Amino acid sequence: MGSRWTYSELKFPSNELERTLIAVKPDGVQRRLVGQIIQRFEQRGFKLVGLKMVQASHGILSEHYGELRTKPFFQSLLTYMSSGPVVVMVWEGHNVVQASRKMVGQTNPAEAPAGTIRGDFSVHVSRNVVHASDSQEGAQKEIQLWFPAKDLLDWDCYDSNMW
Ligand code: ADP
Repeated sequence: MGSRWTYSELKFPSNELERTLIAVKPDGVQRRLVGQIIQRFEQRGFKLVGLKMVQASHGILSEHYGELRTKPFFQSLLTYMSSGPVVVMVWEGHNVVQASRKMVGQTNPAEAPAGTIRGDFSVHVSRNVVHASDSQEGAQKEIQLWFPAKDLLDWDCYDSNMW
C-alpha cells in the first residue's frame, strides 16, 4: 500500500485564505433570491463561515456605508437598506474578495454582464440585490462590524479546500 493523503492534508495554508462580507439586500430577500445567491458561492467553491438575517439599523448602515456619507443618495440608501431584512454572510476562500466582486458585477446593474448576480437579477443601481466587500481591508472592517468573532465558525470543509 502506498502512502495515502487525507483531505485535511490538502488544505490551503491559512495565510492564503481570505474572508469577505456578502449581504443579500432587502430587495433580494423580498424577491426570494437568497437561495440562488448562496448557491452561486457554494458552487464556486467558497466556504460559508457566518450567516444571519437581520433588520439593519441606520446606525450600523451609516458605519457600513460611511465612505458614501456625502453622496446625494446616502439617505435613500439607508432607507432602502433598512426597509426589510438583509441576509449577511461571511464567505471564505482563496481570492474570495476579488472573485466575489466579479461574481456580483458592477454597482450599476446596467453595466453588469449577464452571468453576474446583479446582471442577472437587477436593473437599477438603487436596487442592486447584493453587497460584496470591495477590498481585503474593507472586508475585515465589515466582518467586524456585522459579526462578533464568536459567531464565525472555523469548520473543516473537505471539498473546497482541496483546490
Ligand atoms: P458597491 O455596492 O458596488 O460596492 P458603492 O460602494 O459605490 O458600490 O455603493 C454602495 C451602494 O450604494 C450600491 O451598491 C447601491 O446600492 C448604492 N448606490 C451607489 N450609487 C448609487 C446611485 N447613483 N444611486 C442610488 N444608489 C446608489
